[in-house]
Amino acid sequence: MGTAQIDRVLAEIDAASAEAVAFAADLVRIPTVNPPGEAYDDCAHFIGDRLERCAFDVEYFPAEGLPEHTQSHPRINVVGTRHGRAPHPVVHLNGHFDVVPAGEGWTRDPFGGDVVDGRIYGRGSCDMKAGIAAALFAVEGIRRAGVELNGAVEISGTVDEESGGFAGVAWLAEHGRLSAVRTDYVIIPEPLYVDRICIGHRGVYWFEVLTRGRIAHGSMPFLGTSAIDHMGVVLDRMQRELAPRLACRTTAVPVVPPGARHATLNVNGINGGQPVGGIQTPCVADTCRAVFDRRFLLEEGFDATKSEIVEMLDAIALEMPEFRYELKDLMVVHPVRTPDGSPVVAALDRALHRVLGRSGGLVASPGTYDQKHVARIAGVPHCVAYGPGILDLAHQPDEYCNIEDLTNATKVIALAILELTGTV
Ligand SMILES: [Zn+2]
Repeated sequence: MGTAQIDRVLAEIDAASAEAVAFAADLVRIPTVNPPGEAYDDCAHFIGDRLERCAFDVEYFPAEGLPEHTQSHPRINVVGTRHGRAPHPVVHLNGHFDVVPAGEGWTRDPFGGDVVDGRIYGRGSCDMKAGIAAALFAVEGIRRAGVELNGAVEISGTVDEESGGFAGVAWLAEHGRLSAVRTDYVIIPEPLYVDRICIGHRGVYWFEVLTRGRIAHGSMPFLGTSAIDHMGVVLDRMQRELAPRLACRTTAVPVVPPGARHATLNVNGINGGQPVGGIQTPCVADTCRAVFDRRFLLEEGFDATKSEIVEMLDAIALEMPEFRYELKDLMVVHPVRTPDGSPVVAALDRALHRVLGRSGGLVASPGTYDQKHVARIAGVPHCVAYGPGILDLAHQPDEYCNIEDLTNATKVIALAILELTGTV
């Protein structure tokens, strides 16, 4: 395939720019807020109908068997397939269509889908409904240019990424719809800046620490043991000893922003003794619970991350005979990283140079996203995130996506598809 055909594809994407913008804005107007998972059925069918009109075979996958898939809030995923000359390679483009709640501070209707000053505004415009539009119009640009693909392309719209992706990408992977046998390459058009390729994310360890004290009359606290005081010791030890150690650890993975290149720890919440704001009784707190969010580096690994916490708690117990604790794992997400030399990275990098004249290189995400399920459940290592939108705007008020970024990302994805399917 020659330059003339590539130029035709790029010209078709330019010509369809207004259609792509309108499609992204229409998606924003469907308020797929998660939690609780509103309007998923509407949004899945809106995407499915458009895929059908663009000559995809369309299947719907309700997340049967999961408790969050309910009658009032069904979890519906949609997958479209465009067949090529050969059954493989298969390039799968995945976008989650759930969005986080709008929150405060908007100067525009978060679900209005306003298109102003070269931008599409609204909750989910950047994260990641513009990305879904980019995926769809990349494939449509190839079709309109009259180029027949050598392999197949799939586009999926999935649910619940913002709450872990278990009814979305994880469900498709667990049921074999995304798998090492079926799927060769995966591109997730999440907003990680239009000129950069995201090769994975840090690990997540959410855990709860419960300290147990002994209840007594609040006027004679010396007769009891305060679980809150004991949690105070835990927090103090974390701040004085653990946090500085974590700040010294740096990953070789190019996580952005640079502050997230270190291991980190955050306290999600704390709860001890009597509910504050309610009627009070004089009691020494017999329990205190706190939930922690530890982001760990690929180089640290989960086992060492957890051992370090256990050792710290055990050391406190050795010094304070009355200190009793329980540790509960709430969630573990292992870090993922696309392998070096992956064809999907090479194809996107070449496409970036062709479309933008530059490549911002590789980055990794400070938070996790659906790549973990693609890599760990489906077993497809050649997966990256690449799409339009500015990472910093995700989940913010007045979220927007630049139309120019949408068009450029559409072109980059189209060229990558041509290369990865062996059509070029
Ligand atoms: Zn996202």
